[in-house]
Amino acid sequence: MTDITAIDCDVHPNVPGMAALAPYLDEYWRETVENREILSLDSMSYPPRAPISGRADWRGKGGTAGASLDALRTHALDRWGTSIAICNPLYGVQIVFNADMAVAFTRALNDWVVKEWLDRDPRLRASIVIPLQDISAAVAEIERCASDPRFVQVLVLAMGEAPLGRRQFWPIYEAAQRHGLPIGIHAGSAYRHPVTTLGWPSYLLEEYVAQSTGFQAQTASMITEGVFVKFPRLKVVLIESGVTWVPGFLWRLSKFWRGVRFEVPWVDRSPAEIFRDHFRLTIQPFDGPEDPDATARLIDHLKSDDLLLYSSDYPHWQFDGDEVMPPFIPETLRRKIMIDNPLATYPRIAASLSATSAA
Ligand code: ZN
Repeated sequence: MTDITAIDCDVHPNVPGMAALAPYLDEYWRETVENREILSLDSMSYPPRAPISGRADWRGKGGTAGASLDALRTHALDRWGTSIAICNPLYGVQIVFNADMAVAFTRALNDWVVKEWLDRDPRLRASIVIPLQDISAAVAEIERCASDPRFVQVLVLAMGEAPLGRRQFWPIYEAAQRHGLPIGIHAGSAYRHPVTTLGWPSYLLEEYVAQSTGFQAQTASMITEGVFVKFPRLKVVLIESGVTWVPGFLWRLSKFWRGVRFEVPWVDRSPAEIFRDHFRLTIQPFDGPEDPDATARLIDHLKSDDLLLYSSDYPHWQFDGDEVMPPFIPETLRRKIMIDNPLATYPRIAASLSATSAA
């Protein structure tokens, strides 16, 4: 484990189209995709041609970024000396309205990730994409994938059909905790509701910025409903959420918890404390000030060195050049963010590395 240099907690393998998933569907769903001419399920949260969805110098033939393992290796893994990278596919398979279709498509996507990515590069790990339309099927998919130690997390979107603290989702948390899988909440919407609380915005800019309010609502819901009382070993990773919203939000949540805590007696300590024990954040996009002193103060307000996880968010365009780690992050924190915090957050990565070094 001593030669680990960097664990990238958020990279996105792009599915080139439904034709790529067809070999992983059964006959019925293969025919359905063909007959209905379902060519693509790209999520509206990440329009493939939008600059933020794919950095210009990472776009390959046809204009798509991150669509091949070679591209991921050249642009990210080899270039930045990445030891381990967690693949988080964002392809819309889990947001279709037909629950049976979501079950079939997420299963195909997870199998596609194994065969096309994990089997071809030992540095890769992945998140299990689940269909929240059918909780028992989601749990079954976690069980099916968890037998492969290269799956290290369960992936859901920041904005779904209902707040994630609701009891209906708890069987997912039971399975995740039992298998040592954090719940990764990634930016994105299932579009069951407008992405702002005021209604539909006009522009992608408004939607992307509004993601942080989705993360805030999910954080409040999971803490308030008592998820971490019931599942004390569960970790949640907020992926591509930005960081600067956290201190102000935790002050607000903790202040008003003191005033109305009588209605949630199981929340027996400050939400800010619960957050620090159970939540982690990936560092890209780092939306903090470009000034070392101000950044140090921001990190100080997080009141923990354990919260931040190294991530490139490849191929999304969050930074130029090769500065995956924002240059103004204090030197003393770098090793923690790049190696120690990810290993503490993802026990299945730590276990696989110990097994490799013992062999
Ligand atoms: Zn991301």
